[in-house]
Amino acid sequence: MTALLPARQTVLGWGMAVGGPADVVRPTDAQSLPALFEAARTARRPLTLRGAGCSYGDAACGDVVCDLSALDRILHFDPQTGVVRAQAGATLRQVWQTAVPHGWWPPVVSGTMAPTLGGAAAMNIHGKNAARVGPIGDHLRAIKVVFPSGGVQELTPADPLFFAVVSGAGTLGVITEVELQLKRVHAGRLDVWATTAADLNGLFAFFDAHAATADYLVAWLDAFATGKAMGRSLIHAAYHVPAGDEPDTATALQVTNQQLPSRLFGVVPKSWMWRFLKPFSNSWGMRLVNLGRWYSGLLLSRDKRYRQTHGAFHFLLDYVPDWKKVYSPGGLIQHQVFVPADRARQVFQTVLELQQGRGLVNWLSVVKRHRADRFLLSHGLDGYSLAQDFAVTAENRVALWQLCHDIDDIVAAAGGRVYFAKDATVRPETVLAMFGSERLRQWAAWQQQCDPDGVLQSAQWRRAVGPAVAMAQANGPTLDTPQ
Ligand SMILES: Cc1cc2nc3c(=O)[nH]c(=O)nc-3n(C[C@H](O)[C@H](O)[C@H](O)COP(=O)(O)OP(=O)(O)OC[C@H]3O[C@@H](n4cnc5c(N)ncnc54)[C@H](O)[C@@H]3O)c2cc1C
Repeated sequence: MTALLPARQTVLGWGMAVGGPADVVRPTDAQSLPALFEAARTARRPLTLRGAGCSYGDAACGDVVCDLSALDRILHFDPQTGVVRAQAGATLRQVWQTAVPHGWWPPVVSGTMAPTLGGAAAMNIHGKNAARVGPIGDHLRAIKVVFPSGGVQELTPADPLFFAVVSGAGTLGVITEVELQLKRVHAGRLDVWATTAADLNGLFAFFDAHAATADYLVAWLDAFATGKAMGRSLIHAAYHVPAGDEPDTATALQVTNQQLPSRLFGVVPKSWMWRFLKPFSNSWGMRLVNLGRWYSGLLLSRDKRYRQTHGAFHFLLDYVPDWKKVYSPGGLIQHQVFVPADRARQVFQTVLELQQGRGLVNWLSVVKRHRADRFLLSHGLDGYSLAQDFAVTAENRVALWQLCHDIDDIVAAAGGRVYFAKDATVRPETVLAMFGSERLRQWAAWQQQCDPDGVLQSAQWRRAVGPAVAMAQANGPTLDTPQ
């Protein structure tokens, strides 16, 4: 690898449980990418693209990592139309901070503001509004992509290849620029409704009743609850405030008023917070934390309605910096499954019973509603997702991976999928079962066109998706032209 001087570093998934040593190159301009591709081809050492490294598992891990975070300029923002164009290494944080004073907000954000636009597009991320507005890909006007096969293309939703690169997990080409349509907001705050569901039936009944009208909807489920209490959850529904319904909108939209506070109760630096949580980092401690969240929802905020800034509502997980260190030294994996609506309740119950039976209960579960989308390797479907944070230890690692495999089999049998941004464990045969031969053969045809030498690969690709594509090709004719 001679195109840029690589630095030897440890590159882990965000959850710190997978990854390892890597040679890292950090281009500062898109013009150096073809030389990097050539060097990778000559050295037979594939490149793994990486944005902010927020994927929990091994999607942005590999032996030679191409860190794109230096390509981080906002190129253009039009305060009249809310269209932003930026280099792919610019983050969601940069986008909202540019736009919010003008009354615009990203149409889709993740639970953290750290991801880059390139990483967000490559994984086709979703937010708490997934049921209403779909994934971020549905709001992209264009992406500029540099392909290992040569050439640079501006892709729009009019191009079939757009739907493969978005969701393609960085294995067809390097997204260098992104053009995104933002959402107009008429207030600096959202109307938030906090309520609780006593069990799985209550949870699904609430989502069924409100998914079509709430602008944002999310539930925090207590995975430790058993029997009749299984599925008990704290639910947050949020609604945009109509124009003229907030007295101080101009002030509330200022970036400083959307920032998360740097101190808790004005005293404790937030950077210390994870140390307070550390004593709870065991099964009994987390049972207590989940119980506490449920009871605080039941007793303090039951059916409470309040206003909260966009920043505070969306980026709850950024409140406690470094909270993942609570899971050290083994780290965590997040496992997020997507299940068709008519099967979700039963599948979630089975998944919860399975982990409880094996003594491997996850510490944080989040439920969201989604709609189907048109992207080739997208996780999106008309149904529900259950995201689960599992602590990894040297002792539980084998059993935990087996649990995830068994959950995957249940989900695949129900017509569901996993999400590659949250995956560290899925097996090739499960990817094949979830996405189907036809999709994966279409994928192979695109890869033949965009990256025939396999210059772009991640550890996840080599572990799961690549072998699944090979299996799909063995199952049927190779497509000469992508469809
Ligand atoms: C606390 C937390 C909360 C989260 N909440 C959510 C959520 O609510 N919803 C959700 O959908 N996700 C969520 N995520 C996951 C996160 O949004 C995705 O993993 C996202 O892809 C991360 O972006 P990144 O820039 O860090 O990309 P990375 O993790 O570095 O890379 C992600 C993938 O994109 C590829 N890639 C990166 N840059 C480029 C590029 N320029 N061109 C082509 N390919 C590229 C990589 O090869 C990799 O396959 C969360 C993550 C964390 C840590």
